[in-house]
Amino acid sequence: MFKKILIANRGEIAVRILRACRELGIQTVAVHSEVDRTSLHVRLADESYPIGAAASRESYLRIDKLMDVANQSGCDALHPGYGFLAENPALPRACADAGITFIGPSAEAMEAMGSKTAGKQLARRAEVPTVPGTSEPIENPEEAQALARGMGYPILLKAIAGGGGKGMRVVPSDAAFASAWRDAASEAFNAFGDSRVFIEKYLVGPRHIEIQILADAHGRCVSLGERECSIQRRHQKVVEEAPSPVITPDLRRKMGEAAVRLGRSGGYVNAGTVEFLVDADLNFYFLEVNTRLQVEHPVTEQVTGLDLVKLQIAIAAGHRLPFAWESITPRGHAMEVRLYAEDPDNNFFPSPGKIISRHAPTGPGIRLDEGIYEGWTVPMDYDPLLSKLIAWGNSREETIARLRRALDEYSITGIRTNVSLFRRILTEPEFLRGEIHTKWLDELLARPRPPAVPPRPGTEEAALIAAALWHSSNSEGSSPGGGESQSAPSRWRLEGRRRQVDRVP
Ligand code: ADP
Repeated sequence: MFKKILIANRGEIAVRILRACRELGIQTVAVHSEVDRTSLHVRLADESYPIGAAASRESYLRIDKLMDVANQSGCDALHPGYGFLAENPALPRACADAGITFIGPSAEAMEAMGSKTAGKQLARRAEVPTVPGTSEPIENPEEAQALARGMGYPILLKAIAGGGGKGMRVVPSDAAFASAWRDAASEAFNAFGDSRVFIEKYLVGPRHIEIQILADAHGRCVSLGERECSIQRRHQKVVEEAPSPVITPDLRRKMGEAAVRLGRSGGYVNAGTVEFLVDADLNFYFLEVNTRLQVEHPVTEQVTGLDLVKLQIAIAAGHRLPFAWESITPRGHAMEVRLYAEDPDNNFFPSPGKIISRHAPTGPGIRLDEGIYEGWTVPMDYDPLLSKLIAWGNSREETIARLRRALDEYSITGIRTNVSLFRRILTEPEFLRGEIHTKWLDELLARPRPPAVPPRPGTEEAALIAAALWHSSNSEGSSPGGGESQSAPSRWRLEGRRRQVDRVP
């Protein structure tokens, strides 16, 4: 087993990886940019090293600096997390050159599966159904438009280097083609330095359902079942759950077999995710492979009881997977919401800043994966994901009830968060019935907004009554220090409020 692992990432995922290492008795090395000097992952790691300025291209994207730290600190392995360099084949290559084990697939497997068009070609060869469209980038706009006409609108233009919904444009009609082409190509160039685009048939109202696979270096490749990720805002996932409300055991097996077939034909080793779109008749179509750990991996962990990060480390160390996939059946239900520092009342604009106070939910079935703490300043330089709140229950209903309860307990001041968005989603009748698709949330947000869902019915009044009682008992008391209550209003507002209310019977 490894002795010391370099964690080439930041935020909640760096903390998640660090925790797995600690449980395995492996030393951890964190890296950080200037603004991340006091971040939680740096505080928790055994060692930490600065790697440059805030801009990620000067720090978290610098392979040379990562290799320097790995060598200097004597690491024998590197975990890339997700985002940043996690899907860049240059990182496993640099690791191989430096004699360090990369905890993830080989550079070759990344190349064969990671790009959207290469993944599609592989899927076709492995007889996995794909979304209709081209599996090569198209250079010439006239040629592309002729293909789109032949395919029939609506179509979707996609950047081959795409990610995070960038470089993607829905084209509803022929008249809209030329400007959508220009927009997609220039957005792709700005985001990825690669303007190449390909075409897919735009499926109307599909579900996004993905399969988690794990493959060891000894030929065993297993499916750990699906995650339903149809709750998306502008093509970005915000709520994920397992199992999917619509997947039958038979369909789970078929999708799992397709994903494993794809993994095997790409020579894949380690954890990966095969994404599919699923139509109303439950036909599934390959979308892309993510050659890394997913943000939403905890929902799979909660229903399988497995620790995916520890398994990634064990696989990279050459261990055999200790189970066959027939033995894995999901137990209960898990759901994750992604809490972001963003303002839901201002078009979800990022809301970085100092966290003045924070109360984290706990209790039965609740897990919180986060990389923040009270007093820490959320930098403006990175993705504003603060925490992932995950609930587990025996049924979907119990899971949703736990998640709602936990969201009510969650309080954070100093920055805005999207907590209210989840309070709304988790009470929508269609969501509760599992009748969701990838445009459902965008359509919901376009509807007139109902009055905000209060954190807990009656909490507001109870807080006022408790405040009045607390104030009068302090100021009328015989203590000469009664005036003290006057000097502590901010503490009450920032911290005491909910706890005082909790004491009201
Ligand atoms: P990215 O890598 O940028 O996240 P994906 O290819 O994974 O892009 O797609 C992200 C989301 O965009 C999907 O989950 C789905 O909601 C939507 N999408 C992608 N391709 C299609 C398609 N052909 N038809 C309809 N929706 C699509």
